[in-house]
Amino acid sequence: MIIAMKVGSPEVEVDRLCNDLEMNLGLTPEKISGRYKVVIGLIGDTAQLDPRQLEEKSPWIEKVVRVERPYKRASLEFRQGEASEVVVSTPDGPVVFGLHHPLVVIAGPCSVENEEMIIEAAQRVKAAGAKFLRGGAYKPRTSSYSFQGHGENALDLLAVAKEKTGLGIITELMDAADLPKLTEVADVLQIGARNMQNFSLLKKVGAQDKPVVLKRGMSATIEEWLMAAEYILAAGNPNVILCERGIRTFDRSYARNTLDLSAIPVLRSLTHLPIMIDPSHGTGRSEYVPAMTMAAIAAGTDSLMIEVHPHPAKALSDGPQSLTPDRFDQLMQEMAVIGKTMNRWPQQEPVLA
Ligand code: PEP
Ligand code: MN
Repeated sequence: MIIAMKVGSPEVEVDRLCNDLEMNLGLTPEKISGRYKVVIGLIGDTAQLDPRQLEEKSPWIEKVVRVERPYKRASLEFRQGEASEVVVSTPDGPVVFGLHHPLVVIAGPCSVENEEMIIEAAQRVKAAGAKFLRGGAYKPRTSSYSFQGHGENALDLLAVAKEKTGLGIITELMDAADLPKLTEVADVLQIGARNMQNFSLLKKVGAQDKPVVLKRGMSATIEEWLMAAEYILAAGNPNVILCERGIRTFDRSYARNTLDLSAIPVLRSLTHLPIMIDPSHGTGRSEYVPAMTMAAIAAGTDSLMIEVHPHPAKALSDGPQSLTPDRFDQLMQEMAVIGKTMNRWPQQEPVLA
């Protein structure tokens, strides 16, 4: 259930109401301050509560709405239809993910392979305009015989790349035991498709402060994905970004996955959380990545994660879907055209109303 307060409600009144709800009804009120309004989310057993009775608790209450969805905090209703922002601090300053902000580009190799390649990748993607470097230290490989990532050594190399470029770092967490070491270098933690429903891992990343990119499971419905996000939000971390990375469909003969771009408008209608698209895992082929990148921007994504490798043919993982730095440079220029049209391109002059 949520309580929408009237615009201009005094803070003391909101606090008094929260206190009343907690003390007298045994609920956990969560105060959410949006751009214009304050909303109080009520967590707990609200099944027997009558919304009209609640409305009488304060003259500052605009309305009380029951949220029927199985995900509450992730729902759009929970924020009264307002998109939320995820602000990430990076050495170069804060970067904001969200509907009312410029598109954020994350780029880099699938895995961190050695110092030379990660530094080259970092410098090139930075020069092209990316704000974050991606790179796996712990890799979730389907075959136990495939390259598993360099683990802690890779994290150290990501730290060097961060230091040299000022880029934010995003890297995947597979095992909660790696959390302390990972959070030393990562500005954003990635939960991969294969762990989308690893509920104990979700609770762990929910109980720490770093923002989380939650990838969609390869066979997950949108509702299952949002319920997975709810685990992180419910554990106390409000900073979740949803990343569509392609789902399994019947046709795998040409593309590795089916990139579900319809997830963008669907998510917009269901959740306030920022959206990211990964056209690299979404297609599995570098030649398909540019078209899907452009389509994702046109469909209104808030951010993109693109695999870039200095020498894709020599990559230890996901070479076929990785762009060369030169192709990435070119793509960023192509993206600018659509990004400007959508009024989502960095450093763009505001469009006068
Ligand atoms: C990755 O980003 O390299 C990765 C393994 O992604 P996913 O979890 O989407 O397969
Ligand atoms: Mn990959």
